[in-house]
Amino acid sequence: MKKCLLMTRTVLLLASTSHVCCAQIQTSWKIHDPHRPVPPVIDPGTPGTQDSPGRPPSDAVVLFDGKDLSKWAHKDGSPAKWKVENGYVEVAAKTGYIYTRDAFGDSQLHIEFAEPAAPKEESQERGNSGVFLMGLYEIQVLDSYENKTYADGQAAAVYGQYPPLVNASRPPGQWQAYDIVFHGPRFDKDGKLLRPASVTVFHNGVLAQDHVQPTGPTAHGARPPYQVHAEKLPLALQDHGNPVRFRNIWIRELKTPD
Ligand code: MG
Repeated sequence: MKKCLLMTRTVLLLASTSHVCCAQIQTSWKIHDPHRPVPPVIDPGTPGTQDSPGRPPSDAVVLFDGKDLSKWAHKDGSPAKWKVENGYVEVAAKTGYIYTRDAFGDSQLHIEFAEPAAPKEESQERGNSGVFLMGLYEIQVLDSYENKTYADGQAAAVYGQYPPLVNASRPPGQWQAYDIVFHGPRFDKDGKLLRPASVTVFHNGVLAQDHVQPTGPTAHGARPPYQVHAEKLPLALQDHGNPVRFRNIWIRELKTPD
């Protein structure tokens, strides 16, 4: 009887393992098929250092290379007024958010930032900015180095929703990086949500958000539901009144492989 139960359990385990295994492989290609297309060859670029920004991968769309803001505008379409100097762009307080002139959806984004050195303010007033994916979903930019604030509002948080897994902040004045993998939400033709957005964030190379699913657009003091929108929208950077600096901003649009 015991042996029989054991066998039943083994069969069930094998069945469930095989189900999980097969569910993950969604391809019509045979294993090791020599005719399966190989991925494109690219130059991966180089990582940034404190002294110089990294070099983007060869297939990335460069959004800011340290020289000008020609790829960016304010919401009304007017040229971005943020200050460009010494290879970086700095938030010019009260000029407003800046938006990419092109729209992006599912993508890999790299952005480097430096918080104002010798900060005086505290909590949310210290080096606040933000990377707004599709202009709607904020990955918080904040000086979270020895700066207390609420967990879902610190650096690398999905603002108001998901605190980062760790606080990997560098001291103010030093260059930091976010590497973000984002998949936008999908809606059917009647506006019903088919899938939520998802986001993975590396902060200074350390996993800070592990494929979390935003509950809808981010907001202060609210968690509004999804509202139907296009598959691609401009990326935005937040003017929160603090002179945060950015450099080496690039994006790669993601496609489903064959
Ligand atoms: Mg912010």
